[in-house]
Amino acid sequence: MKYYSLNHQSPITNFKEATIRGQAPDKGLYFPDVIPQVDKELIENVEQYSNEEIAFRVIRPYVGEVIPDDELRRIVNETINFSIPLVKVTDNIYSLELFHGPTLAFKDVGARFMSRCLGYFVKDQQKKVIVLVATSGDTGGAVANGFYGVEGVEVVILYPSGKVSSVQEKQLTTLGKNIHALEVKGNFDDCQQMVKEAFADEALTNQLFLTSANSINVARWLPQQFYYFLAWKQWPFKNQPPVICVPSGNFGNICAGMLANQSGLPVKKFIAACNANDIIPNYLHSGELKLKPAVATISNAMDVANPSNFVRIMELFHQHLDETKAMLESCSIDDATTRKTIKTVYDKYHYLLDPHSAVAFKAMEDYQQQHPSQKGIIVSTAHPVKFPEVVEQEIGKTIEIPDSVKGIMNKQPVKTTIEVDYNSLKSFLHTI
Ligand SMILES: *Cc1c(COP(=O)(O)O)cnc(C)c1O
Repeated sequence: MKYYSLNHQSPITNFKEATIRGQAPDKGLYFPDVIPQVDKELIENVEQYSNEEIAFRVIRPYVGEVIPDDELRRIVNETINFSIPLVKVTDNIYSLELFHGPTLAFKDVGARFMSRCLGYFVKDQQKKVIVLVATSGDTGGAVANGFYGVEGVEVVILYPSGKVSSVQEKQLTTLGKNIHALEVKGNFDDCQQMVKEAFADEALTNQLFLTSANSINVARWLPQQFYYFLAWKQWPFKNQPPVICVPSGNFGNICAGMLANQSGLPVKKFIAACNANDIIPNYLHSGELKLKPAVATISNAMDVANPSNFVRIMELFHQHLDETKAMLESCSIDDATTRKTIKTVYDKYHYLLDPHSAVAFKAMEDYQQQHPSQKGIIVSTAHPVKFPEVVEQEIGKTIEIPDSVKGIMNKQPVKTTIEVDYNSLKSFLHTI
């Protein structure tokens, strides 16, 4: 498999180079030059295959010759070594629970896959690799956990001060070892901007071996297809492909689902459910891309102004807006409605949603109002316990904390606080 840059000014490359670089030299996102088709037989008899076998078959063509079969099987098996159940919430809405991994959010899948691939690739490398990542909440924890203790790799995580939940902050500041947390006195876009500046700084990148673990990295993006196939395996209505609604921020998750669909996975339509950061819903409705700054919401992992993976979705449809719109709808749900949804769904169906999954649930309900016979799947991206401040207030009781979270809540955080200032980041990188 070859990868090209969506800015079309960089040489074609392979999976290994694309993973190590993160971004193409022309700052474009890498994109596979063909979309492989999964066997029809696998789709038709999906229940007969193990999760590991399905995942291996999906990712095999994307990786190519740079990782041998036995090594790739090991990586895949370690990536999805937790349950990914499809749970019935109402007669028409099923929840794909992606929050049973170590950091209780879907980003575990991409982060675990990428960290293991990178670990394999740097084995023969002299220079230490620095993974530089900006997080709006969940990326940091998943990346920190995925890379923790991986030899030859240091991880630097930038997160916006006061804008991540207490559990999220603990997840990225309490590991130590090769994981470094930088608290930035700004918002997520500031963090992302500083990371971009570092990658664009040639003097720096000549000295240090920097790579990104944001959702633009192909090794994080592509394995997210796994759980769309695992949802299909558990889907009870094989003659009626589901509508899939994904709570979206940077649009990496939904883009992986749409890629899976183009590889042969049956899906009726995708809905990108956004919070008040509604640039893409507006774009799909009006055809005009009106940029504006990010606003803070209770679904903070989706507080992204300008979603970087959207260009990949457009590429799937040859940069044609009309073709894209035939497969993708998008809407914006405000915080008040999200809160009400958490409460109503809990009271009515005894199902507890986190704020991100609640955005998707409401978007799905709205869609089904227009299409009453259509059954669908919401992608539940985080465990409600990661957002106790919001969830407990809505349902009026405290929620049971899993043991994995109890452990870290008592640990002392280790972090360095910096201003929104690229030079502070640069100095810090030189100290590692
Ligand atoms: C990151 C995240 C999202 C947004 O996913 P994207 O791939 O950036 O669209 C949604 N929900 C949760 C809980 C997240 O952590």
